[in-house]
Amino acid sequence: MKKDCACYMDRFLALDRNERLPLGLTVHLLFCGKCRNFVRRFTLLERRCSKENLSRISCDSDDVAGIMRRLDSAYGQYGLKHERVPMRHWVIAGAALVICVALFEIFAAAVSSALFAVPLSLCFAFTIILYCAVFVGANMDFFIKKWKIQ
Ligand SMILES: [Zn+2]
Repeated sequence: MKKDCACYMDRFLALDRNERLPLGLTVHLLFCGKCRNFVRRFTLLERRCSKENLSRISCDSDDVAGIMRRLDSAYGQYGLKHERVPMRHWVIAGAALVICVALFEIFAAAVSSALFAVPLSLCFAFTIILYCAVFVGANMDFFIKKWKIQ
């Protein structure tokens, strides 16, 4: 590209998405094949990236966080990336909780001591409610995306 072409490409790259091309840039693109190819490829790449990958990339993924750290050295101080508990761990903990409650009910029925069964059942009920509240609170974005709550 000529020096003039670099100036036009800087003007093109400074435009916002879907912003109308200035007349001077449009005229240059009509007569310059290299710049026209660059703009065409750039537009195709931008469309491909925005449509195909936008839904796949999570904003708190390690790749995005790494890029943001490189762009802005103060990114780590913002505290935007928070550690998330994987869904597998939530399922394992919930299953263990349900199994413990079921085992307790079996043993409590065998002993048939209502003195301990009622308070411990209330304790288990409170634990399950607390587990559900923390699970929903920690995965709020999942539920919002899944059911499209706005
Ligand atoms: Zn050019």
